Amino acid sequence: MKRIVVLGGGESGIGAAVLAKVKGFDVFLSDKGKIADKYVAELEKWDIPYESGQHTEELILNADEVIKSPGIPSTAPMVEKIAAKGIGIISEIEFAGRYDKAKKICITGSNGKTTTTSLIYYLLKNAGLNAGLGGNIGKSYALQVATENFDIYVLELSSFQLDNMYDFKADIAIITNITPDHLDRYDHNLENYVKAKFRITRNMNSEDCFIFCSDDEITINHLNKIVVRAKKLPFTQKTEVPEGAFVSDDKMIVRYNDSECDMFLQELALGGKHNVYNSMAAAIAGKVMNIDNETIREALSSFQPVEHRLEKVLSIGDVLYINDSKATNVDAAWYALECQTRPVVWIVGGTDKGNDYAPLLPLAKEKVKAIICMGVDNRKIHEAFSSVVPEMHDVTSAEEAVKTAHSIAAAGDVVLLSPCCASFDLFKNYEDRGRQFKEAVRNL
Ligand code: ADP
Repeated sequence: MKRIVVLGGGESGIGAAVLAKVKGFDVFLSDKGKIADKYVAELEKWDIPYESGQHTEELILNADEVIKSPGIPSTAPMVEKIAAKGIGIISEIEFAGRYDKAKKICITGSNGKTTTTSLIYYLLKNAGLNAGLGGNIGKSYALQVATENFDIYVLELSSFQLDNMYDFKADIAIITNITPDHLDRYDHNLENYVKAKFRITRNMNSEDCFIFCSDDEITINHLNKIVVRAKKLPFTQKTEVPEGAFVSDDKMIVRYNDSECDMFLQELALGGKHNVYNSMAAAIAGKVMNIDNETIREALSSFQPVEHRLEKVLSIGDVLYINDSKATNVDAAWYALECQTRPVVWIVGGTDKGNDYAPLLPLAKEKVKAIICMGVDNRKIHEAFSSVVPEMHDVTSAEEAVKTAHSIAAAGDVVLLSPCCASFDLFKNYEDRGRQFKEAVRNL
């Protein structure tokens, strides 16, 4: 019997192990850290042998194939040993793809993955289709392949998930945009990161569709260098395109196969220029899936924002509090500032990932009346913005940030948490940061 070893006991690894079990393999799961109780219960329920808190070489290096969770880097010592023995290493998505005949709509990119994935899923459900949602979001894809029976999957894929994919094929692939992020996992080489993102187009043929942002230079430069056999459907806010999506006056226009769908930008449920891109990508996918224009318009105008993405929390004394805790890089914060029409009290800071704040200076100068630095080390933020923003404060908790913002903001202002940085200096993760922020706002 073929032996499959799963490395990593999180959502992805557990799903892969369950699928391997269902398909009749000899399965073993190993996690160097402690496996969470709910996943231990799942392993026991499925009668899958596992170890938690250690890697036992003899039980791992006898594998025929290894499924590696995306959080484990390829430089981890155990992964290097497996590779040195010539054992194949694949991702959960690659493994599950082997057993899944459903149509697959796959989304990657530096920013906008979760929003675009959720929009498309919502659109498919509104159209009455039997669709599942997975990948980097919600329940693991492999677990669903093992236990559900969907006709279509909408999968959010991070570049880490794409790294170990080989034969997997998407029917519709989307790259929302590419800006430098996570370069530490790609030898600080942008080209490697771009190539990882483009793995989403592997194995596609002329019946498949590739949806991408033609305003994104990094995407276009790479696309000019490679062959993608899928039908190319760009979205852009700069020019008109014969097929794909574009903006004309105050409308978004989507064209596919001699059919056109238009919609007023004002009707889009999600505000901001970046969400025009995300909505265009979703609308193209909808057209390709043959969903009628009315359903597309209805879905794109009624979608509720995903938590922590420009989420409106409360308005207190005509000061609007917005939680954009998921903005962990410069590009995301740029779009958050760009779409503000009122003076901004900006809560920014955290663990700096080697950020270059220069692209934010014009927007900060134009819109930001005060900055509240929420981090352990705020030096870089002071250096970058003190010449353009008149007022700056340092705080070390979400509660302090909200109280300070409340004391500064005047009626008509916006208090925007869009940190531009990772959260690990003061919080567990970006969700924890966003929730503490919202809690503090509600306690005002
Ligand atoms: P991801 O899943 O790729 O991290 P999200 O949809 O969770 O993307 O959004 C992350 C952050 O990026 C949020 O602050 C959001 O407002 C911003 N954002 C969303 N879409 C885009 C886009 N197309 N371009 C730039 N920033 C975006």
